[in-house]
This record gives sequence, structure tokens and C-alpha cells, in this order.
Amino acid sequence: MKLIIASNNAHKVSEIKAILGCFYDEILSLREAGIDMDVVEDADTFEGNALKKAREVFSVADADAVLSDDSGLMVDALGGAPGVYSARYAGEGHDDAANNAKLLDALKDVPGEKRTARFRTSVALIRRGMPAVTADGSVEGVILHSPQGENGFGYDPLFYYEPLKKSFAQLTPEEKNSVSHRRRALESLCDKLRAEK
Ligand code: IMP
Repeated sequence: MKLIIASNNAHKVSEIKAILGCFYDEILSLREAGIDMDVVEDADTFEGNALKKAREVFSVADADAVLSDDSGLMVDALGGAPGVYSARYAGEGHDDAANNAKLLDALKDVPGEKRTARFRTSVALIRRGMPAVTADGSVEGVILHSPQGENGFGYDPLFYYEPLKKSFAQLTPEEKNSVSHRRRALESLCDKLRAEK
């Protein structure tokens, strides 16, 4: 059984290979499958974007299944923003530093106890002749007043994870992967696939 992951992000691809390896004999990234396409992520939910990406890739892929994911940060004091706009919060073409600066500015008058937030991921699996399966995962944290740590990407330097008393950017990749929203969504997906057997 062949699975294509709708991503070229090496970190995501290796994490997904490790977790879903027991369900598929061959797991390929988009590049490894020879697919070069950009899906416009314009749905208003993470699940909608993940399903859209998986369906579009499946329509051109020679595979039994396609898996995709969509993630972002939801800040309570901002009504769930930046949410599905996380990658482009400071505008198209802006980088992580600009997104983080905009987030700090939006929260400048918000006190510590009201700076609660979560990272969320939806994953979607489209399969030949079988129903689509989706799953969600999230991890709770608090938005810091200034960046801490050098690891990770995106909003990691501003995301304080209380159980380990560090920002996500202060965790090793292994520590972050073991508690991340993406890991939790993938594990939930595996539980659903196991329950089908
Ligand atoms: P993607 O759907 O995984 O590509 O994530 C979209 C955007 O959400 C990224 O560009 C980041 O800004 C943010 N994001 C998602 N996951 C994480 C994470 O684990 N750490 C920090 N930022 C993240």
C-alpha cells in the first residue's frame, strides 16, 4: 500500500513516516512521488484546508492514499486568531519574525493569565475506495511577552509550555515532537485506523 504525504517539509515527512509506517509499506513525500503542485489553502478551518490539499493531491497521484495536515496558533484573547491565517498573519511574504512581532503587539495590553493559546493541527487521509478520515490534535500554552529560545520555527519562541516550563523554541526537537499538536493529531488518526480493522 502506497501513501503520499502532501508535503515536502522533511521534519513532517519523517515524523509521519515513523507514526504511520505500520499502515503503509511505501510512504513518499510529494517530491519523492514526483509531484510538483501548490494547493491554495483558502478554507476557513484547518480540517477544510487539510481535506482540500489531500483531495487535490490524490486527484493527480498514483497512490492508495494521500495524507495532509494543516496547523496554526489560536490565541484566546484574539478570538482564536491568527488561526488558519497563522502563516500569513503579518501579510503575504512576511516571515516568522514579522508574524511574532505582530502577535506581541496585538497582545501588548493583555495580562499573563489571559494570554492562553493552543497550537492545533488537523490531518486528513484520502483513500482509494474508502471513506476519508480526519483527526485533530492540540497543545495548550501561554504567549510570552518576548521570544525565548532558538529552536523550532513559526511561533515557537513565544509559546510557553507549562508542563516542561520552557517555550517550544527551548525544547529539543525530540521533546517538542513528543508533545506536539501534529503528533497528537497523527496518533488520533492512527487510533481511528486501528479501530477500523
Ligand atoms: P502548517 O500548516 O504546518 O504549514 O502551519 C501553518 C503556520 O502555523 C506556520 O507557518 C506557523 O506560523 C504556524 N505553526 C504551525 N505549527 C507550528 C509549530 O509547531 N510551531 C510554531 N508555529 C507553528
